[in-house]
Amino acid sequence: MKKILFLVADGMGDWPLADLGDKTPLQAAKTPHMDRLAAAGTLGTCQTVPQGMLPGSDVANMALLGYAPQTFHTGRGPIEAAAQGLDLQADDLIWRLNLVTQSAPDKHDRTMLDYSAGHISTAIGRQIVNHLQKKLGDDTFTFYPGIQYRHLLVQKGGAHASEAKLVINPPHDITDQPIARDMATYAQSSRLTDLISKAGELMKPWAKECAANAIWPWGQGSPLFLPAFQKTFGLHGAVISAVDLVKGLGRAAQMDVLDIPGATGFLDTNYQGKVDAALAYLDHGNFVYLHVEAPDECGHMGDAQKKIQAIEDFDARILGPLLDVYGTKDAVWVVTCDHFTPIARRTHTTDPVPFLVYSRENNPNHNETAFSEAGAARTNLRLKSGPDLMAQIINRAKA
Ligand SMILES: [Zn+2]
Repeated sequence: MKKILFLVADGMGDWPLADLGDKTPLQAAKTPHMDRLAAAGTLGTCQTVPQGMLPGSDVANMALLGYAPQTFHTGRGPIEAAAQGLDLQADDLIWRLNLVTQSAPDKHDRTMLDYSAGHISTAIGRQIVNHLQKKLGDDTFTFYPGIQYRHLLVQKGGAHASEAKLVINPPHDITDQPIARDMATYAQSSRLTDLISKAGELMKPWAKECAANAIWPWGQGSPLFLPAFQKTFGLHGAVISAVDLVKGLGRAAQMDVLDIPGATGFLDTNYQGKVDAALAYLDHGNFVYLHVEAPDECGHMGDAQKKIQAIEDFDARILGPLLDVYGTKDAVWVVTCDHFTPIARRTHTTDPVPFLVYSRENNPNHNETAFSEAGAARTNLRLKSGPDLMAQIINRAKA
């Protein structure tokens, strides 16, 4: 079995921009390593986000890891609970809980000003959530503090309660928009409405210290269950990522989850630390899923130049040093993204993602000389799902 290096640039896929001479950031970026592997490898596109599902990183990364989201995805909250290693019962309902900033929290026509409460500090965020747990935690609801504005709320026995079916907007999707529709949805549950209103009251003393003035539970679901990666695919694998949801997917799949000091999820992340961890792991393991978050963040910021920088860093500081060591070995290389985060849209879309698969005995299925969205689409190799891509990769590793 060949070793597999599966490299994911979150949100890298994009649309052509007039400002870039009708190129995408991936086309505009200097990516000599990706281009070399693409030219000699197999190119295609993969529909990571199944039809009818939202193009979240949770859904898309689950698909890339080879698990069909239609079967296994229960919500955003449950994946983050897996990352935190929470001890859960099968009938628990796990909510992702944001600390947010809303306009005029006492009025009915208020709007969502900031899904992150000004990227509230972890210290104050945890203080608030611990206080909410002390005052509002009971036999039904338990608050779990997390990082910055990202926390969790567990509803005991909630998997079979009416709350399980409520559809609440992710707060980052309704910035500057009225929240009345979501409040009407929350109102279908008196205990949830009560919890939200009491939490708002309890947060008032922090108004001088931070921008958080409300809680926003969303992304709820039953505990995540994934069949073990090793049993399913016959691979001894690890995930390397700064973000909780990718770590959560790894933990749920009983993969090794490598902690990288200084992995930030942004342009200043510890690239060398990720590369070193991958190389050390591959001494005994045979699959590494190395995830870099920065291109996605730059897409959300709508900053094309920063996104180009993030893609060039991914090429120079991840692919480059890995190729220095593994380029001469008999390995399978995969480079792709989980979903598009177009600069023009500043949020995720469901476009099929470009991928390249390279191993030494490869016969290219194309005449492309670079890795790009359009070039991958031109090959007409269109995989219908993440699991289809994983199957191709494993076949290649066995060859
Ligand atoms: Zn993503």
